[in-house]
Amino acid sequence: MTDVKHYDYALIGGGIMSATLGVLLKQLNPDISLVMYERLEQVANESSNPWNNAGTGHAALCELNYMPDSQDGSLPDPAKAVAINEQFQVSRQFWSTLVEQEILKSPESFIRTVPHMTFVKGDKDCDYLKRRHESLSKQPLFEGMEFSTDQKQIAKWIPLMTAGRDQSPIAVTLTEQGTDVDYGTMTEQMITWLVDSGMKLETNVEVKNLYQFQDSKWQIWLGDSPATYIHADKVFVGAGGYALKLLQKSKIPEIRGYGTFPVSGHFLRTDNPKLVAQHKAKVYSQADVGAPPMSVPHLDTRVVDGKESLLFGPFAGLNPKFLKQGSILDLPASVKIHNLIPYLSVALQNLGLVKYLIGEVTKSKSKKMESLRSFVPNLNPADWSYYEAGQRAQVIKPVGRLGVLQFGTEVISSKDGTIAGLLGASPGASVSVSVMLDVLERMEPMTFPKWKKNLRDLIPSFGRELNNDPALAKRTMRATAKTLKLKA
Ligand SMILES: Cc1cc2nc3c(=O)[nH]c(=O)nc-3n(C[C@H](O)[C@H](O)[C@H](O)COP(=O)(O)OP(=O)(O)OC[C@H]3O[C@@H](n4cnc5c(N)ncnc54)[C@H](O)[C@@H]3O)c2cc1C
Repeated sequence: MTDVKHYDYALIGGGIMSATLGVLLKQLNPDISLVMYERLEQVANESSNPWNNAGTGHAALCELNYMPDSQDGSLPDPAKAVAINEQFQVSRQFWSTLVEQEILKSPESFIRTVPHMTFVKGDKDCDYLKRRHESLSKQPLFEGMEFSTDQKQIAKWIPLMTAGRDQSPIAVTLTEQGTDVDYGTMTEQMITWLVDSGMKLETNVEVKNLYQFQDSKWQIWLGDSPATYIHADKVFVGAGGYALKLLQKSKIPEIRGYGTFPVSGHFLRTDNPKLVAQHKAKVYSQADVGAPPMSVPHLDTRVVDGKESLLFGPFAGLNPKFLKQGSILDLPASVKIHNLIPYLSVALQNLGLVKYLIGEVTKSKSKKMESLRSFVPNLNPADWSYYEAGQRAQVIKPVGRLGVLQFGTEVISSKDGTIAGLLGASPGASVSVSVMLDVLERMEPMTFPKWKKNLRDLIPSFGRELNNDPALAKRTMRATAKTLKLKA
């Protein structure tokens, strides 16, 4: 017992969430002792890896699911889109500060300007996009968004998508200030700084169990038997799809009733320089009827290790693993007496979704190419290859005795604030800073109010809403664009 190592915080998982929380903690309290455990050989190799996600800096500039159409043809409500954009501005400010402090290296290594566009077909959707544009372009955070139904203009913006297209109505919006982000490189750079600042990082080590003592401290079991363990005052479960499993093991009552619904993601990719040169944007469209919001099709410029590719997808599918490098037993093993009814009720309420996902898994290669052809009419299938991206573990949330499927993220924390974890996947890494601030507030309720000034040093607009202060919004966006070398 005497030799057991003790840390202030144990961070489980080496993805962007643990990395972000670790940097926040170290910045706010340089003396804090941290340990991070990662079950794989390297950090940032699950959802945060650049090839396992789409790298979109989600700011609601192009994703229709953050702003569904109104029922009566009036202007759609921008509130959710504005809220997502506000969260992305928090991330941008934090990343800018980390660049200034040389914690994050050259901005080009992890973020670039890639215009964000929305593309729709048919009179009904063109009208919706027009009204969406009218509603959003009044918002300071969306200033400068352009709209067009003119095929000649659209051809100048996205030639790959207009060549060979018939003349039926299409409409697009364009925001020049969109971004493509390599969350994996960012995670690695943050973790490198944490290690240089004294954090202990252990890779190839899986946390197997958690046990809370009566004095509220945690014992964390590492690896298989004979288990070694450490002690920590507080634990963050940043284990991605495995967060549910570990939170269940912690036996905190707050996890009761929760479940996880895994959805796999695949993309088509081309590195053909001729195609890459004809498409310099992330273009999001409408999801198919019955499709979950995260399977909205998009054709994206992607920059990883300085090389540009195009990717199209995602093709969602049913797969019982909770992590890409997980086990097919993950889903059955997560079913407990307390979440059995939520699981069953979600399955019954979402039979259409289950059917859709099975259909997607069994979709032939030529059907997938047909989906791509609606974006790239002059398609040569030989240019494109199919690859597996990450697993999304969507949240099943208990509501009453039943369960509902959620497509956002959910922070679960114990009443005593000694443990917190993150379920869910959207809008994901883009809003990691806001989500980790929420975690910090729950885990450090007494100290958090005293950190406000320090937090304003890291995130100058902390505590204020940019969209309500156009001058501040402009100043902030310009400043972060300058530091991150993005288009202002
Ligand atoms: C197909 C797809 C597309 C996406 N596209 C976007 C996008 O365009 N933009 C965006 O912002 N977000 C996107 N996301 C979401 C984003 O990738 C995730 O929200 C984010 O990467 C989650 O980070 P994390 O740190 O929580 O999890 P992860 O990056 O998955 O990290 C969790 C880590 O915990 C480790 N781990 C698990 N269990 C244990 C254990 N017991 N012991 C030790 N280590 C453990 C895992 O090995 C892993 O390394 C996408 C996700 C997917 C799957």
